[in-house]
Amino acid sequence: MAFWRRLRQAGKPGTSVPLAAGRSQSLKRKLAAATAIAGLCTIGLAALLMARSYGDFAAARQNLYDISEYRVLLDAANVLSAERGPANSVLGEPPSQESAARDRLRAFRARSDAALERLLTPPPAPAGLHQHHIPPLMVERVRERLHRARAEIDALATQPLEARQMEEIQHAIEGMFQAVDALQPVVGWQVRQLSACHVGLAAPALAGKMLGDLREYGGRVASQIMAPIAARQPIPVRSLADASRSRGRLVELWELAGPAYNMYGEAPRLEHAFADANHQFFGQGLSMVDSMVAQGRVSGHYSMTPTEFTNRYVPTLEPLERLRSAFLDEVIAHFEADRTRALRVLATAGGVSALILLVLGYLLVFAQRSVFLPLLHARDAVIALAEGRSRPAFAMPATGHEMRRLFDALDILRRKLRERASLTEQLEHQARTDSLTGLLNRRVLERIAAQPADPAGSATVSLILMDVDRFKQINDRHGHPAGDQVLRAVADLMRNMVNPDHALARFGGEEFALLMPGASTDEAASMAHALRTAICAEPIRLADGTRLPVTASFGVATERSGAAHWPRLFAAADAAMYRAKAEGRNCVRRADEPAEAVDE
Ligand code: GH3
Ligand code: MG
Ligand code: MG
Repeated sequence: MAFWRRLRQAGKPGTSVPLAAGRSQSLKRKLAAATAIAGLCTIGLAALLMARSYGDFAAARQNLYDISEYRVLLDAANVLSAERGPANSVLGEPPSQESAARDRLRAFRARSDAALERLLTPPPAPAGLHQHHIPPLMVERVRERLHRARAEIDALATQPLEARQMEEIQHAIEGMFQAVDALQPVVGWQVRQLSACHVGLAAPALAGKMLGDLREYGGRVASQIMAPIAARQPIPVRSLADASRSRGRLVELWELAGPAYNMYGEAPRLEHAFADANHQFFGQGLSMVDSMVAQGRVSGHYSMTPTEFTNRYVPTLEPLERLRSAFLDEVIAHFEADRTRALRVLATAGGVSALILLVLGYLLVFAQRSVFLPLLHARDAVIALAEGRSRPAFAMPATGHEMRRLFDALDILRRKLRERASLTEQLEHQARTDSLTGLLNRRVLERIAAQPADPAGSATVSLILMDVDRFKQINDRHGHPAGDQVLRAVADLMRNMVNPDHALARFGGEEFALLMPGASTDEAASMAHALRTAICAEPIRLADGTRLPVTASFGVATERSGAAHWPRLFAAADAAMYRAKAEGRNCVRRADEPAEAVDE
């Protein structure tokens, strides 16, 4: 069986070489790895972008908080400065428990105390923000100076006006200066903190401080001459010098900080405050001071009492205060806008990152589902086609016109290959068989005979050659088609009798051959006898009902297997067959028996 199967397979062209199926797995792994790397890189980039945007937002938030807290400090300094106004008024008034100036002084002192308390115990910073805690000792020093100055003022205020010495008044006023001066280190400390945190905070912080100083020195220049006015005495040289220094400082500060109003571009409110300060304070207010100084130089007679002077002078300071306050508002608005912008950028960065990730994810899934996996399927399909494995149909991808066309093409290719395989099979069958009888032809039989012996089987092979007797007469008497019918009938008869593992062929004309691998001469001869007996046992019935008695002569030989022994095997069987003819036909002759041995 195995021998015959091997022999049959030997006749088929092309052997299938399995193509590497494992590569498909490797491609899938590479695709998954590439997808993962692309995803991770995008997430990394998005994270960088987000981190950057979040950093900017957090910095803008911190800046806004810092500058707002700094403003609280400048406001506190301003409130302390402002306390001097009602204090000066009270020093110029006769002793009394109730007066408008005293009421104002009480209110201003309460404001100052609240402002200092706020510096000492600020509300906790919102989550995620850093708080610059002002060293408490610094604020305590201010408080202590302030208490001392207030105590001095209160002590003087209880004395009759005439009893108040100018030096005492001067000293009390200077005590208030010192309280404000004690706050300057706190402001300096805060400016340093802010500048260290963010360089962009330094300029507005310094400009804010200078505008605050303007308000301070504006008040101070009047306060410095307030004592002689209150004492109705000429202004001492020291006070003149102090006032003159303060005036110089004011002009200097104005030149430096005044134009700071346009630090962040157009700001109409600041422009108005600047113009008002220029007109009201540097025009009217300072002129008022100059006139009082002029009066105090020559005599102790002043055109205004301290309260009148204060009441007329203080309003000229208001544009300075407005300028300071509007500038700080502007600074805070600027940093608020910064924070809003940073928040918008952060939100945009988050949105864009999420969108990029979504699009990339979609692209990767789409590419995997609609391109790579179908391509891998197509590749598997092409390999299957190349290896001749039949697949019922290809898994058509759900999307993608191009992919569907590819799979349509593959389907067409598959059908064509099937057709070709079927045609090839037909051609091979035709090439192997005799068209009249359906038996193997001589060429195939010789090829089978030339095969090396099955190592597991016998090393010999027997051959029976058979020739129909006086066949020419059949043709001549009954016609060629009748002869064909006889050949087919003989072929059918023999096919039914031989072992399917043996090769039965029409050798040519009315000659047949039976190759019997492994069979001994006896077995082959016995087969030949059986065939001969069957052929002559009954006449062959033609289609027209004619019955023709047919006999055949047989030659039997045995040889070793293999191509090299075939010619000898054939020649021996042929000679035996001719001997059968010569010795009367309708008999079997063996190549190994002596001549004249008669069958039957
Ligand atoms: P012998 O007993 O000596 O073999 O005599 P024979 O007449 O059988 O031998 P011969 O060689 O003289 O004649 C064989 C004939 O077979 C000659 C040829 O026309 C005929 N023949 C060969 N092939 C075919 C075929 O395919 N069909 C038919 N009908 N006849 C064929
Ligand atoms: Mg013949
Ligand atoms: Mg013949």
